[in-house]
Amino acid sequence: MKPSGMASGNELVLYGFLSLVAALFVLVTGPFGLVAIPFVLIVVGFLKMGADSGAESTNPVNCAGCGAPNDPGSEVCRHCEEPL
Ligand SMILES: [Zn+2]
Repeated sequence: MKPSGMASGNELVLYGFLSLVAALFVLVTGPFGLVAIPFVLIVVGFLKMGADSGAESTNPVNCAGCGAPNDPGSEVCRHCEEPL
């Protein structure tokens, strides 16, 4: 596919479709929809970030000696070498 103009045909169709869905949503729900769309996106984004970080690694372990955050798998503190 060759780029023509600012956006490709696929992108224009996608943006048009999303805009149409958003416009219809606002028409149905009224002004509340204008708030609901970004609100839902933000909430879903935060949930997704929490799920991603939870899947990759657990929370850092804080050192009992100096309070520095350490990787969950490490056995001693990387700053003061206190056993975790
Ligand atoms: Zn420490």
